[in-house]
Amino acid sequence: MIRHLAVLVLLALSLARGADSQQAPAPREWWRDTVCYEIFVRSFQDSDGDGVGDLKGLISRLPYLTDLGVGCLWLMPIAQSPSYHGYDVTNYYRINRDYGSDEDFRQFMAEAHRRGIRVVVDLVLNHMSSEHPYFKSALLDRESPYRDWFLWSPTQRQSKGWSVPTWHKVEERDEYYYGLFWRGMPDLNLANPAVTEEAKKVARYWLTEMNVDGFRLDAVGLFFEDGDNPRNGPGTHPWLRDYTSYIRQVKPAAFTVGEVWDSVETMRAYYPDQLDAYFAFPLADGVIDAARKGSSRSLLFQLDQVQRSFPRGRYGSFLRNHDQTRTMTELNGDGRRAKLAATLLLTMPGVPFVYYGEELGMTGAKPDPRLRTPMPWNRQTSMGFTTGLPWEPLQPDSLTANVEAQSSDRGSLLNHYRAMIRLRGSLSALGSTGDFVALETGSDHVLAYLRRDEKSAAVVIANLSDRAVDGPKISLAKSALGRENYSIRSAFGRADASSLRVSAEGRIEKWSPVATMEPLSSVILEIIPDR
Ligand code: CA
Repeated sequence: MIRHLAVLVLLALSLARGADSQQAPAPREWWRDTVCYEIFVRSFQDSDGDGVGDLKGLISRLPYLTDLGVGCLWLMPIAQSPSYHGYDVTNYYRINRDYGSDEDFRQFMAEAHRRGIRVVVDLVLNHMSSEHPYFKSALLDRESPYRDWFLWSPTQRQSKGWSVPTWHKVEERDEYYYGLFWRGMPDLNLANPAVTEEAKKVARYWLTEMNVDGFRLDAVGLFFEDGDNPRNGPGTHPWLRDYTSYIRQVKPAAFTVGEVWDSVETMRAYYPDQLDAYFAFPLADGVIDAARKGSSRSLLFQLDQVQRSFPRGRYGSFLRNHDQTRTMTELNGDGRRAKLAATLLLTMPGVPFVYYGEELGMTGAKPDPRLRTPMPWNRQTSMGFTTGLPWEPLQPDSLTANVEAQSSDRGSLLNHYRAMIRLRGSLSALGSTGDFVALETGSDHVLAYLRRDEKSAAVVIANLSDRAVDGPKISLAKSALGRENYSIRSAFGRADASSLRVSAEGRIEKWSPVATMEPLSSVILEIIPDR
């Protein structure tokens, strides 16, 4: 009996402690209040004239990034690798010599941190390079200690839904190894505890020795196979849970964002207790669609899905990344549509990621190197990217789509990005975790939504069509706002109304804050309760 009482007391105490920890919420994670910027170091800035971007070059461009307003960088792979892209690593503990020395990287981290910019690096754990010594050993010798680091089959197999061969013949014997992307990238066997141990060691090295602020984890959805289905195999979620908790032990503030290129439905299984966030690919397509086709329909569907399915704000929003046709190319070179897409990206919930050069409207379509061309800075030789011969030719429109030309043009896409990023930083309702409520406009061509947090509220209205719209009327059956009168402040664009009245039932009825909306334009209105 006494023992039972003691157990009850202990239980009560631990419950009380639980309640306490609920009353004192954890400090807000830094990544919830920032805009991230994805950089391909090879293409950003060359410092020594060899035509290859490098860390010293990147350091020299930090003022540009500060000016743009981004607070977090994602560097595509920077570890040693034989390929131009770096996604096949030969040494996880060395900086790619093309990019500089380990010391250069430490200096870069110090300079970035001095400016309040955090850095996450690409971590490629699904596969390594076939040139990695561990794979070479396993390939050569079936008795190698690294044999079980990879996946072997006595017969030829093929992954479902993959058009290229995924099992590759070993020349020396009748055996095949698994390399989903190509024979130069053998998949790692993450079910082997020794591989997991090594993956943790790699994370610890970058977090502690290199002082990075987190990781973008490549191809997370392909870590574990399910028979011949390469995606989302059993083992994925327990593995991610364990790995993330290890990362948090080493550096509690570290940010992890993963690539799961899949449906929102499938991505649900990756929450709530694995990585901090994952890129919302279907949402990115929704934004591009809205800007290209002039209809809000698919975007509103995706936004609804994402809001229902993911924990608040815990996803990466973006337009395009290094694997996709550039936004400006998708939008057929229409700068107004590119601005609209930027407005939407930077006023929606989620952690926004901007792929380098998107702010200039850089163009590019596959093959892959053309999605990753050098950044055009000015009107000098090779647009200031290098004094030598660039590793890959710049895009033909670099004469106009460069930083210098757009900085001096008030109406440029670059200045639009700067304004939107600044606005997101100053009007907290627009941030990653604020409420998102779609508003009725009576037209697929006009998209409107309310953003709100405990400090502020804003309405975003976008005319997605290439025709002017007279007095779009905005309604909401059941308001997310209480009954009140609000004053209107134009945060971007111009409002013609000075107030908004929310009825007793909490409804907004045919509110017309703008007399005419120009084609492909947007306005952002802060709404301030009258007190
Ligand atoms: Ca260089």
